[in-house]
Amino acid sequence: MFSTDGIRAAVDTVGREMALLGERATPTSGKDLDALRASWVALVDALDLGPAPELRKCPHCGGIGMRAATLCSTCWKKLVPPPAAGDGHWGGPT
Ligand SMILES: [Zn+2]
Repeated sequence: MFSTDGIRAAVDTVGREMALLGERATPTSGKDLDALRASWVALVDALDLGPAPELRKCPHCGGIGMRAATLCSTCWKKLVPPPAAGDGHWGGPT
C-alpha cells in the first residue's frame, strides 16, 4: 500500500521553505511567491492527501504554518492554536 507519510513530510518541508522565502521576499518577488504558493496549493490538492492541511496565517508575520503549531515557522513567535477548525482560509490581504 502506498503511504502518503513521506509525501506529507515533503509537503511540510516545502511549505516551510516557501515560508522562509516569503520572509526574504521583496515586494516584487513576493508577488511571484504568491503565484508559486497558489500553484503549490493546487499541487497539494491534486495529491489528495486527505483532509485539507490544517494551516493558518501567523498573526504576527502572516506566514503560513500548521494550525496546531505553537511556534511560527517563519518568525518563531509563540502561537496559541485555535480551539477549533473552521476559518483556515488562504485568502490574501484584502
Ligand atoms: Zn510568524
